[in-house]
Amino acid sequence: MKTYDESNIFAKMLRGDIPVEKIYEDEFSIAFKDIAPKAPVHLLVVPKGAYIDFSDFTDKAKPEEISGFFKAVGHVAKKEGLSENGYRLVMNTGKDGGQEVPHLHVHILGGKKLGF
Ligand code: AMP
Repeated sequence: MKTYDESNIFAKMLRGDIPVEKIYEDEFSIAFKDIAPKAPVHLLVVPKGAYIDFSDFTDKAKPEEISGFFKAVGHVAKKEGLSENGYRLVMNTGKDGGQEVPHLHVHILGGKKLGF
């Protein structure tokens, strides 16, 4: 079984150990801009709970954390003006999924028509 690594960068942001310019925050989640954007708009939504990835989240999170998190994703996309033209959600999960930061996060990508 995988163990959550408290030293990952998103854990440090959530603890306030390193600064983060939040564009959104609620009881369950925070959102901020990706430092290396892969689209004109590239945002990350991160649950406050210590979950490694999507599997860990769906295994362990309470239903209100899961619904709260997904509601935050939709809210942030709308708030940042992406609802009209659409956007892409990406959740890289684990080694084969190319996940670099071992704290669950959703990428919101938009601002242009995205290729594959
Ligand atoms: P993933 O490969 O799905 O784990 O994505 C991790 C994302 O976190 C990458 O797109 C990085 O550019 C982004 N990232 C890493 N460090 C920071 C940071 N300090 N602030 C904002 N985004 C970051």
